[in-house]
Amino acid sequence: MDSKKMGFNTVCTHFGEIKDEQFKGAVSPIYLSTSYAFEDVDVKRYPRYFNTPNQEALSKKIAKLEKGESSLIFGSGMAAISTTLFAFLQKGDHIVLQRTLYGGTANLVNEEFTKHGIEFSYVETQNISGFEEKIQSNTKVIYIETPSNPLLTITDIQAIGDLGKKKDIITMIDNTFASPVNQNPIALGIDVVLHSATKYLGGHSDILAGAVVSSEKNIDRIFQVAKNFGGSLSDFTVWMLERSIKTLGIRVKRQNKNALKLAKWLAKNDDIAAVYYPGLKSHPDHEIAKKQMKGFGGMLSFELKEGLNSSDFQKELTLIKSSMSLAGVESTILSPTLTSHALLTGEERQAQGIKDGLLRFSVGIEEKEDLMEDIQQALNKIKVPELEH
Ligand SMILES: *Cc1c(COP(=O)(O)O)cnc(C)c1O
Repeated sequence: MDSKKMGFNTVCTHFGEIKDEQFKGAVSPIYLSTSYAFEDVDVKRYPRYFNTPNQEALSKKIAKLEKGESSLIFGSGMAAISTTLFAFLQKGDHIVLQRTLYGGTANLVNEEFTKHGIEFSYVETQNISGFEEKIQSNTKVIYIETPSNPLLTITDIQAIGDLGKKKDIITMIDNTFASPVNQNPIALGIDVVLHSATKYLGGHSDILAGAVVSSEKNIDRIFQVAKNFGGSLSDFTVWMLERSIKTLGIRVKRQNKNALKLAKWLAKNDDIAAVYYPGLKSHPDHEIAKKQMKGFGGMLSFELKEGLNSSDFQKELTLIKSSMSLAGVESTILSPTLTSHALLTGEERQAQGIKDGLLRFSVGIEEKEDLMEDIQQALNKIKVPELEH
């Protein structure tokens, strides 16, 4: 079939696969060699050069899903993010970043950039004027993350892309939370798309991986740094990730649907004080989300009514697991204050609107009725006063 005409799920299932010419097997064979004879052409295949048969095949699939020209796959999301940032920034350069970033990215900037003489400014709002104000003559990169963690704020992707073009600055987005199912930032004018493939691309909480998608020219620039940093992904895990992506479309669409239903249900529940989900009309950024997202994603956050203890609530859940990671087929929940945002001070969390009782909920593919029942029984248990015995 003409690959230009392939729809999303067809690309997930078939595009970029390695044909098994020898045995006609249904899935890509796996090539684990770390040593390849020199071919006539000057391709020197080596896993750290990101060019084994499985690495190349999966790169094509991920690039196509993100509507980019090319891609590289890494050993973790942070390997993709750090390598990409260091490919575009050197001593004396400056980067403008959204304040509400994944904790690992914020740590990378705060701890490593200072050591390497790279300047940075955080933007406290999602307003485009906020980003523009921070631009300096040495600004080389604008970096955003939308929807953000944990309050699912939305940044206007197209406006950031336009700003970057106007000022001749590279724009980057961490697209992990949305996944390529829900938004394609390159089509909206962003230069570089990053993923923790540990999350939705992997989707089963059993793979650590990352990816970057961009133009051929940018990917070559990133590759020149990547081969020095050595963050490529092993072929066995590449193969597992290819298998996982076959179901990416159906998994995430189901998670979108479950999350929207649960967000609406939670918003009506008397024991819930607040729900943060970009698919709700009550979300302050709902209009921008509607403009740039095809679905609103599987992540939401909520606060219990005053007097209800969120740690007790988490302990009473039987189906929904308390877990640090996200985006698996199973539903998981965590307290940002105690885990992902524990390194921030109380004031810093408050400035970002993260209350101590906030819970971040990664909605899985289970039956929504079962998830609601689990939440309701946990709420009922923590509301019952202790019986005397
Ligand atoms: C998990 C995560 C990362 C880091 O990815 P790793 O695979 O853990 O290195 C980066 N960004 C976001 C939004 C994430 O959720």
